[in-house]
Amino acid sequence: METTTDIASRELWEKAKTIYLSTIASQEEKSQVERYLSMIVSVERSGDTFVVCTSNAFSAEFLKANYSERMKKCLELVVPEGKVELEFKFREAPIPSIIKPIQEQSKHQKVSTFISTMPLNEEYTFDEFVRGPSNSFALAAAQAVVANPGKGGYNPLFIHGGTGLGKTHLMQAIGNEIKKRDPSLAICYLTAEEYLNEYVNYMKDSNLPGFRAKYRSVDVLLLDDVQFFQKGKQIQEEFFNTFNALKDNRKQIVMTSDVAPKNLPSIEQRLISRFEGGMLQEIETPSYETRLAILKKKAEGLEVNVPDYVLEFIADRIKSHVRAMEGALGKVSVYLSAYPSSVLSNEALEHLLGDFIQKEQTMKKLNIEEIQALVAKKYSITMDQLLSPERTQSVVTPRQLAMYIARKFTTKSLPEIAKMFEKTHATIIHGVRNIEKRLDVEADLKASLAEILAEFGYKLSDKMD
Ligand code: ADP
Ligand code: MG
Repeated sequence: METTTDIASRELWEKAKTIYLSTIASQEEKSQVERYLSMIVSVERSGDTFVVCTSNAFSAEFLKANYSERMKKCLELVVPEGKVELEFKFREAPIPSIIKPIQEQSKHQKVSTFISTMPLNEEYTFDEFVRGPSNSFALAAAQAVVANPGKGGYNPLFIHGGTGLGKTHLMQAIGNEIKKRDPSLAICYLTAEEYLNEYVNYMKDSNLPGFRAKYRSVDVLLLDDVQFFQKGKQIQEEFFNTFNALKDNRKQIVMTSDVAPKNLPSIEQRLISRFEGGMLQEIETPSYETRLAILKKKAEGLEVNVPDYVLEFIADRIKSHVRAMEGALGKVSVYLSAYPSSVLSNEALEHLLGDFIQKEQTMKKLNIEEIQALVAKKYSITMDQLLSPERTQSVVTPRQLAMYIARKFTTKSLPEIAKMFEKTHATIIHGVRNIEKRLDVEADLKASLAEILAEFGYKLSDKMD
């Protein structure tokens, strides 16, 4: 089946998407929306109706249920006629066993028609990736993979590091570059979450062999955010087997995660050993120079000219996430395109970027001891108990809650937090995840958290991604 995207419709769609994304204040929600929108493989238009196809059934349903109203409004803003209908559909990607033979016919121009489960973002290239001390090793490893996919010692390549620091960008750059060099290779990009969704769907259709055939037929598997696998043993088992099959056939595997493999607490040891068996690289928080260089690069791609003093202001004030810097740059550029000749004072910039800067500053203010002390007080336990290994629930909850606040509301690194709690990294991550899960269902716990945060002048929504 051909996926043809009508270019004009796609452009209108992209414009509407930009407008939509600019209306979302929370970074967390924005990333989620982006993730689902990235599963779109084509946009076609017939009359007033935009038909948006996604690479899997679940995301079509999800987009329809959650975003269709608002996307429709945004489309109406960009379509000259102002009238729009919107449909989300699932278009099944052909399974590889059917696709490959077609290619075998012409010897010279072999092009894989394998459709990646989630599309590669073509803007995520090596050219667009700014090298700095915080990422140079990861970048070098990524380039080594491209030079010799599956065959070098970098298999798997495992990239870890905090949110918004460029893991997905680098991983997709690997995919884009390999595809360019050897179009005959089947490259598959997806998140671990999506892998799990698909597994569940195939299982529902009693077609696990189809699922296995699909993922074992790829030449390059790019699996993003594998920390997600902690949610289920069965999916770990499934992936373990696929991993081994790919590795045995000298197919390349690249993975990312927000922590190093050894700090993935509920992942089986045999998988962790596999993850560590190739090349492990960390991306760290970028320095001021790297932040500025990234901003300059991003600004080049904008239609408006953003002056250097603005970029320097952003690089200086926003330190923790590249993604937050991009958000700030986006906001300034919208302003500058409306008022191109304005000169922005530091006060004006502070005002304009208030949301982003305030977040950074509040993040810095909190220190871990204060968090521990306040949480202990609220739960009427002593600091000693909070830091002890004691396992009773009345002590575990405040302990884990304090870990959660330290992790989600400060810029302290995992090792720093672990040290302050006298625990291992894995224990901290486990504690944080546990609270995360409980917050979804326990209103009381959420209320206590809000109360504690309020004492520091924070809101639940100040949470970092
Ligand atoms: P992660 O997957 O680590 O959460 P992403 O890869 O999604 O982070 O990066 C977030 C944003 O920051 C992306 O838009 C990406 O292009 C940008 N970014 C991060 N690091 C760099 C870099 N070194 N050069 C250019 N852009 C970067
Ligand atoms: Mg990512």
